[in-house]
Amino acid sequence: LEAIHNFEGKYPKQLWYLFMVEMWERFCFYGMRGVLAIFMVDVLLLSGKDANLKYGAIQAFVYAFTFIGGIFADKILGFKKSLFFGGIVMITGNILIGLNPHDFFYYGITLSIIGTGFFKPNISSMVGELYREGDPRRDAGFSLFYSGINIGALLGGALCVYLGKSVGWNYAFFAAAVAMFIGIILFLATKKSLGPIGNSPLEHMPAKKRSTREIAVYVGAALSIPLIHAMIVDTQYTDYFMYSIGPVALIYFFYEVSRMESSAAKKKMFAALLFIAFSIIFFAFFEQSGGSLSLFAKDNLTDKLLFFTIDPNIVNNISNAFFVILFAPLVGLIWVALSKKRLEPNTVVKFGMGFLFLAGSFFILYSTKFFAGPDGITSLNIFTSAYLIMTLGELCLSPIGLSIMTKLSPNRLVGMMMGLWFLASAYGQYAAGLLGANMSSPNANASNLEKLNLYTEGYYQLAIYALIAGVVLIAISPIIRKLMQEVK
Ligand code: GLN
Repeated sequence: LEAIHNFEGKYPKQLWYLFMVEMWERFCFYGMRGVLAIFMVDVLLLSGKDANLKYGAIQAFVYAFTFIGGIFADKILGFKKSLFFGGIVMITGNILIGLNPHDFFYYGITLSIIGTGFFKPNISSMVGELYREGDPRRDAGFSLFYSGINIGALLGGALCVYLGKSVGWNYAFFAAAVAMFIGIILFLATKKSLGPIGNSPLEHMPAKKRSTREIAVYVGAALSIPLIHAMIVDTQYTDYFMYSIGPVALIYFFYEVSRMESSAAKKKMFAALLFIAFSIIFFAFFEQSGGSLSLFAKDNLTDKLLFFTIDPNIVNNISNAFFVILFAPLVGLIWVALSKKRLEPNTVVKFGMGFLFLAGSFFILYSTKFFAGPDGITSLNIFTSAYLIMTLGELCLSPIGLSIMTKLSPNRLVGMMMGLWFLASAYGQYAAGLLGANMSSPNANASNLEKLNLYTEGYYQLAIYALIAGVVLIAISPIIRKLMQEVK
C-alpha cells in the first residue's frame, strides 16, 4: 500500500486501470439506459407518462442498490470481489434482454440493477484508497476518473442508441454486454497491481467461515431477483421501497456517527450529509436527461445540429458526456489557476455554482419554446447549448462530491458514505421520474406542440427551484464550512 501511495507524478498508474474498467462499465450502463425510455415507448408501447415513471423507478433502484452493494463490500466481499460479481451479473442481464427483449426485459433490467449495485460505488471507493489522507492530488484523480466515466457513457450511449434504433433492439443490449465483458477482462488483468486495496475485510478469517458469508451474499442477491422484478413491473412498489430505504440508511448513518468519539469527526459527517441532501435536488433535475429530455428529443427536435444532420436522441444521449470530456480538464485548470491567486472557491460554493449553472440550463430549455414551429418542433442547437451549461454545473458538483465523501469520512466508513452519496442519486432519479411524468402528457396521442408546451412549462419551474437552491447554498456556506473544519 505504501508503494501505491508513494507514487510520483500526477496520477498513480492504478488510477488509469480503474479508469479503463469503469469506462467499460459505464459504456454498458449508459448504453442500456440510453435506449430504455425509447424502448419502453416504441416496443413495449407504454405512454410517455408510464415510461417516465418506470425509467425513474429503474434508475432509482440502480442507485439504491449501490448503497447496499457498498455496505456488503465493506463488511464481507471487499471491493474486488464485488466488482467481479457485479460485472458478471450485468453481463447476464443484458444478454437476457438481447435474447428476447419482449419477455426478458424486466428480468434483464433486474440483473442490471443488482450488478450495478455491486460494481459502481466500490470502484469509486477504490479510487479514494489510492491516495493517502491529505494528498492534494486526490481531486485531480477523481476528475480524471470522471472523464473515464463519461468516455464510456459517450461511446455506449451513441453506439447502443444507434444499434437499437437502426439495426435492432437486441444488438443494443448485446453491445452493452460485450462492453462489460471487456471491462471485466481488463479488471482481472490489473487486479494484482492494486495490492491489498479492495481485498475482503474478512481476509483474516478461516476460509470456510469466510466463504459461507460470501455465499450468503450471493444467495441473498439471487433471492432479491423476484422482489426487484415485482417492484419494477408495478411502480407502486417502488414508492414503498423508496419510502423505506432512505430512513433505514439514515438510521444506520446516525448509529455509526453516535459510535464516533471525536466531535470534530462527527461534524464532518454532518457536513457530508448536507452535501448529500443538496445532491438529491441536483440529480432530480439533472437526470431529466434520460427520461423527459429523451422523450422531448424524440418528439420535439429537428435533426439539424450546426451543419450536420443527426438523430436528436443520439445528441441527447451523448452531449452531456461529450461536454464533460471537453470541459473537465478546463475546469480543473481554472480551479488550479484560481487557487494560485488564493481565489479558489471552497466545495460549498462550488456546489452552489453547480446549481446556478443548472438553473441557467433549464431557462435555456424553457426558451426552446420560442423557437418552435406550429408542429411543435424546435431547435436542436439551443437544446444542445442547454446541455453545455448543465454540464458545467455537473462538473462543479459531481466529481467534487465523490472526492469530498472520501475526505470527510473516516477510513472505515468511506464505503457507507459513498453508498449514501449514490443513494442520494437514487432519490434524485426517483424524483426525476416523478417530475418527468408530471410534465408529460398522460395522453399517448397528444400532439407534439402540446407536449412541447407541457415540458417547457416544467423546465421553467425547475429553473426557478435550481436558482433558489444555489442561492440558499451559497448563503449558508459559512455554516457548512465550520462543520468541515480544515477540509476544503
Ligand atoms: N454521471 C455520473 C456517473 O455515472 C454520476 C452519476 C450520479 O451520481 N448520479 O457516475
